[in-house]
This record gives sequence, structure tokens and C-alpha cells, in this order.
Amino acid sequence: MEEALTKTPAMSEWGLGLPDGPVWIAGPCSAETEEQVLSTARGLAATGVHMFRAGIWKPRTRPGCFEGVGSEGLPWLKKVKAETGLPIAIEVANVKHVYEAMRAGVDVVWIGARTTVNPFAVQEVADALKGVDIPVMVKNPVSPDLELWMGAMERLAAVGIKKIAALHRGFKGVQKSATRNEPMWQVPIELRRCLPNLPIICDPSHIAGRRDLIAEISQQAMDLDFDGLMIESHCNPEAAWSDASQQLTPEALGKILTAIIIREPEAKDEDFNLQVSQLRTQLDQLDNDLINLLSDRMGIVEKIGLLKKKSNVTVLQASRWDETLKQVRRHGGEHGFDEAFVDTLFKTIHQESINRQEKVLRE
Ligand code: PEP
Ligand code: MN
Repeated sequence: MEEALTKTPAMSEWGLGLPDGPVWIAGPCSAETEEQVLSTARGLAATGVHMFRAGIWKPRTRPGCFEGVGSEGLPWLKKVKAETGLPIAIEVANVKHVYEAMRAGVDVVWIGARTTVNPFAVQEVADALKGVDIPVMVKNPVSPDLELWMGAMERLAAVGIKKIAALHRGFKGVQKSATRNEPMWQVPIELRRCLPNLPIICDPSHIAGRRDLIAEISQQAMDLDFDGLMIESHCNPEAAWSDASQQLTPEALGKILTAIIIREPEAKDEDFNLQVSQLRTQLDQLDNDLINLLSDRMGIVEKIGLLKKKSNVTVLQASRWDETLKQVRRHGGEHGFDEAFVDTLFKTIHQESINRQEKVLRE
């Protein structure tokens, strides 16, 4: 782990006038025309956002879509800054993007999800940024690979970039889901556990893929103590050249931001602290009970393993596993657990049981 990554400053120390509290970043998916950029920025400045974002070069999954206006759009962003005073953030994916961004006086750059997956590309961007004191935000890679996400940030820290933030934009799922990308909150939660000082911003637009879910996902992120939000906004979302279904007008975005409830990570209230600490003692006891129960279960699993070894029987009996899963789903349902939760839990327990029996068979 790069030592510097454990000491990243808060965004309020980036020298860009960002607040101590949550930072709101907003702007269009893509800069399309000067009028669209300026009109969106004026609307956003009135809602109190703290930073303006826009895509100049767009990494599209399939070719043939709008791939961004390119450098032509950079002077429009300069105008936004001159007029509104908002710092400007754009995505960079290669050396050319970095140099053009520097020349245009962009304040913050971010590395997109499709770039974070590629260590060569991230290294190229990091090397181009060497010696430059610019904040860099790093989106999570498309797949839920925390190592790859942290690796990208380590590459930046290694070239001397100090102001780093992570951008959580969800992960491509294999199955169809309600959202464009799966939030998999446990991944940014683990990132926070590993790097408690690292600012983490949520991008609910690319998680949701649809504007009607943005308020809910934004609130979830704030309830998980994220450091801010990056939300796509367009003066005329339906007519946007990219990501039309997830963009919000500045007015709609303003309403969402006003309605967000900001909660404190800690309470000063003595009574609250006493009650929570008593309940947490109960939770700790139950967690111990869970481990003890699982250990008893594994003891029985190993006894069965010995019998299987003696009689030369396979570890897996598919029909028995099918029965077990159906039974725990039914029982779990009676206790209000949804099937996805029961499945994840019992598939993990089942895998550990298999590992234990494999070990018995090998001995
Ligand atoms: C974007 O922010 O416009 C973008 C391309 O996002 P991502 O890299 O998360 O797909
Ligand atoms: Mn987008």
C-alpha cells in the first residue's frame, strides 16, 4: 500500500473552496454545445452545487455512439468557470487528454470506470500527471475488483498526486437488475475500512441509469457517510446526446439536493450512546453465537466427510443441496429475509462445508 494514500486530505483542503460537509458535483454526461454547457451550468450554479462536471471525451461501450466533442468543448468549460466560479472536472483517459486538460486550466480530473480496469492506461495517465498538483478522482472499475480500484489510486499516489478521491459508480452485473449498474455497497464500505481518510463520492446517475432512482440512491450514499455526490444534469435531458434517461434538469437536481437528509456519523447525545452501546453488546454476543453455531455445523459436516471418504462417495449430492436451499429459503422467508440474502448466505456456508469435506477427503 502506498503510504501517501492513507493520508489523503479532505476535499475541503483541495484549495477549490469546497465545503467541509458533503460536496455536490453536477453537470452533463457530455459537453455537447456551448449553449447546452452554459445553460446547464447557470442552472446548477443557482442550486448551490460546488463543482461542474462534463465529459469531453466519452468512453462508449459500443462504437458508433456520440464520443464527445473533444478539445473544442474545453473553452466552453473555461467560460463556465469564469461566469459561475465553479471549479471544473473532466474525465481523462490518456496522455493527450491530460495535456489538453492542463492547458485548459481544468481544476479536477477523473479516471473513468473503463480506464480504471486497465493498469497500463492508468499508469500512462499517472505518469502524465507527475509533478502536477491537481486533484484526481478515480471511478471504480466496471467489475467489483477493489484491488484494481485501489491499485489505480496507488499509481497516482506513487507519482506524487496527493489530492485523491474515489468515485463509486456501481458495477456491471451479470444478471438483469433494477439499476444500470449494481451498487454493491460493500465494496466502497470495504474501501472506507481500508482507507478511512480517502474521500468517497457516489455517482448515483451511473448506478441508477434512470432519473427516478437518483434521489433514493443519493440518500443511501449519504446514509453510508459518503463525502459527496456526482450527479449528471442537462438543461434538456430528453434531448441529451448520451445518457439521456439518467440526466436531470438543474431544477430537478436542486430539489433532490434540498431534500437530502444529512446525518451525523456520531452522536453527542448520552442516552443515544448508552442505548446503542447496550444493543451492540447484544449484537456482539449474537455474532459469537453465530460463529459457534457455524462451528458446530462444520463439525457435523466433517463427520459426514469421514463417512463419504470411507464409502468413496462424492462431496456433492446435487439433490440434497437443492433440498437444503429450498428449505432455508422457505424458513428464511417466514422470518422476512429475501431470497437473494438467504442464497448468498447459504451458498457461502455451503462452499465452506465443501471445502471442509474436500480437506477430509485429502487427508
Ligand atoms: C461519466 O461519468 O460520464 C462516465 C463515462 O462514467 P463511467 O466511467 O462511470 O461509465
Ligand atoms: Mn454518463
